Amino acid sequence: MKAIRGATTVNVDCAEEIKESVKELLGEIKALNKLKNEEIICIMFSNTADIKSYYPAKAARECGFSFAPFYSSAEPEIDGSLKKCIRVMVLSDSDNPPKPVYLKGAAVLRRDLTELFNIALDGPAGSGKSTISKLIAEKLNILYLDTGAMYRACALKCLQNNISVNDEKAVNRIVSNLILTVKHENGVQKTCLDGKDVSEEIRKPEISMLASTVSALGCVRTKMVEIQRDIAKNTSCILDGRDIGTNVLPDAKYKFFLTASPEVRARRRAEENTQKGFNTPYEEVLADVIKRDRQDATRKIAPLRQAADAVLIDSSSMTVNEVVDFILNKIQEKI
Ligand code: C5P
Repeated sequence: MKAIRGATTVNVDCAEEIKESVKELLGEIKALNKLKNEEIICIMFSNTADIKSYYPAKAARECGFSFAPFYSSAEPEIDGSLKKCIRVMVLSDSDNPPKPVYLKGAAVLRRDLTELFNIALDGPAGSGKSTISKLIAEKLNILYLDTGAMYRACALKCLQNNISVNDEKAVNRIVSNLILTVKHENGVQKTCLDGKDVSEEIRKPEISMLASTVSALGCVRTKMVEIQRDIAKNTSCILDGRDIGTNVLPDAKYKFFLTASPEVRARRRAEENTQKGFNTPYEEVLADVIKRDRQDATRKIAPLRQAADAVLIDSSSMTVNEVVDFILNKIQEKI
């Protein structure tokens, strides 16, 4: 006996969409596995608790599978689970090796069966990009690339070498010999400069403004963008930054632009700084955030800008979980 797994999602919890999705899912399973009706022993469904309008088993009976015995059950409500998802297991006595089918939003459950994809998450300083990106990467089991960390590492290198971040010639010399690598350990990005892990050092508040200034230089951007594209080309990942959707990966499948009022962002950043042991007064952080946004948004090369096809999220009055759920739902709708 063989067990063939499958799953799909619906955008709206309504009988019509549930019926259509079940028909599509069973049709695909049958076609891909070259199943004959008489080879199907039984079909078992489960659905997430947010599906209430129709039984998938009833839908299956109505779309031509009435010859098989069915079983259908509702899954418990589990925090962070995929939304509006219908799972199925078809037992058959076919001799063929089972081929699973994961459609629409459920494709994220089996990335190994699906193609590589990238998510661009851009936005101004302190908008929560890194917190959100880490959680999304965890949920989708993909890589998180913090591109800001790379510009911060360039700024640190200039600082270490007593080079002004405004001196393009000198920065160019430094950047051409820069050995900058990012590696991931248990999902955490380690940014290494000349072989040394500088992940903590680059978080110092004084590095932020320097990073913003150095990142405006063409020689710096060319080198960083090359590394970023190289990583994204080979791995499904979420990249956060300022120009991912507009410049680094204009063809990214999913694009979001996360923002919040300067006051909210400064408050978040100040709290984050305190937790890291840097005590910067709120007013100072606010002034820095505003100055950095202006500098990032007005530079000539790849300025901070929302891509025309990016979904705008104002997180001023949203919790982290609300933003994560919003993004996951949007991704699910588009798959
Ligand atoms: O995101 P984070 O605050 O760590 O970024 C530091 C600086 O790096 C930003 O102010 C911005 O100037 C620059 N940056 C950039 N492009 C990116 C990511 C960051 O110019 N993709």
